[in-house]
Amino acid sequence: MPEIHLASRNAKKIAEMERILAAHVPGLRVLGLDDVTSYDEPVEDAPTFEGNAVLKARAGVAATGLATIADDSGLCVDALNGMPGVLSARWSGPPKDDARNNRLLLDQLADVPDERRGAHFTCAVAVVLPGGREHVVEGRMTGSVIREVRGEGGFGYDVLFVADDRPGLTTAELGKDEKDAISHRGAALRALAPVLPDLLA
Ligand code: IMP
Repeated sequence: MPEIHLASRNAKKIAEMERILAAHVPGLRVLGLDDVTSYDEPVEDAPTFEGNAVLKARAGVAATGLATIADDSGLCVDALNGMPGVLSARWSGPPKDDARNNRLLLDQLADVPDERRGAHFTCAVAVVLPGGREHVVEGRMTGSVIREVRGEGGFGYDVLFVADDRPGLTTAELGKDEKDAISHRGAALRALAPVLPDLLA
């Protein structure tokens, strides 16, 4: 049975990723960080999503000897010149706090009119194999940032984000499958899924 190590501690993200990969690669066994011997995770200091995803996947391979998949994602807001971008998780400073990040983003966009509140989520997913082969894919979800938090699902900035593909609802108000179908992570993983069996062979 093919196995892959998924280098993430974000339980919701792991669940989202497992759901999408399982649908495309039957029989794939995904080992999370808690299923492998613990190791020092690298500092995510690359300037791009792709750079951070590769850095995390390389560290996973080096520590476990297993093919490793890692992602890096974030929200890029047009009116903030693409920020928070790779700084999304800790936009309002450490420790990571989604509610505080959302409040800061709302404050920063307080004077920005509706027609200039465009944004997109990007997700880069990297697979690195023990032999050194590397494959990276990216997905994107475009939309806009609303003026108040809404919804209970998802995580991070979902409560503030309305996708162009699902106007009227935040991505925190969508069902899991509905979000997967349009999300940046869903798009990246769907691009990866068809090539994954070959990579793991
Ligand atoms: P990462 O774990 O380093 O990839 O950081 C991702 C950060 O970007 C998260 O902590 C969230 O703040 C934000 N983010 C990424 N994907 C999503 C999403 O699907 N919904 C909401 N926020 C997201």
